[in-house]
Amino acid sequence: MELKLVDSHAHLSDSAFETDLEQVILKARENGLVAIIDSGLGKDGALRSLSISRRFEGYVYSTIGIDYGAPFLVDVEELKRLILDNRYRIIGIGEVGLDYYTVKKRDERAKLVDYFREFIDLSKKLDLPLIVHSRSAGREAIEILLESGARRVLMHAFDGKASHAMKGVESGFFFSIPPSVVRSPQKQKLVNRLPIENILLESDSPVLGVNPLERNEPANIVFSLREIARIKNLDLELVAEETTKNARRLFGLRI
Ligand SMILES: [Zn+2]
Repeated sequence: MELKLVDSHAHLSDSAFETDLEQVILKARENGLVAIIDSGLGKDGALRSLSISRRFEGYVYSTIGIDYGAPFLVDVEELKRLILDNRYRIIGIGEVGLDYYTVKKRDERAKLVDYFREFIDLSKKLDLPLIVHSRSAGREAIEILLESGARRVLMHAFDGKASHAMKGVESGFFFSIPPSVVRSPQKQKLVNRLPIENILLESDSPVLGVNPLERNEPANIVFSLREIARIKNLDLELVAEETTKNARRLFGLRI
């Protein structure tokens, strides 16, 4: 049986893929990927992502969000306009969220929360799914999403406690699992707890690979697939089918 996999969160628009994007996509196809959801970060990243999803129409899809490497360089109003202008080209908003690992000051964290709420509101208004970045802030991110009434949510590379994740599961949130799960006891615990109905695969390329020192790429979601199958003692085919079905359901992909 041929596997059909979806990479629900990647950054092909990152400069790490500038020179060999064609080969990276080819390798993804050879490994059974039927779609890659790219997150373009900031204005420049978003424009690059849109041009990649036009070039690989029907295979690469775009979302637009914030670069949490430098969250305060973003012009939120400009980014919101970009999302509105491309409402029918993108399939989601993200990544957006909270990063308490890099942002420590109280007033700056409050600013992140404000931004996050603005994008949650926009996603509700446009009925677009949200891809949520939460670093050392899993519990608070889920609380804000729940009190804001967000429905279509993908928590990507969730680094919090499994018990906090289950609050999101109760509201139908999805969680995407990167290849770094093979070396992360926290993510292994998370996979163990999450129902397969709430799990998607992601690469988060170029980061979160099996080897932290190597560039990660979409084809590597097969490592997430294998690890999920191992932890949950399920057939690879079943995990492939379920995660792709979940991606289809969340993003409304016709694949
Ligand atoms: Zn990312």
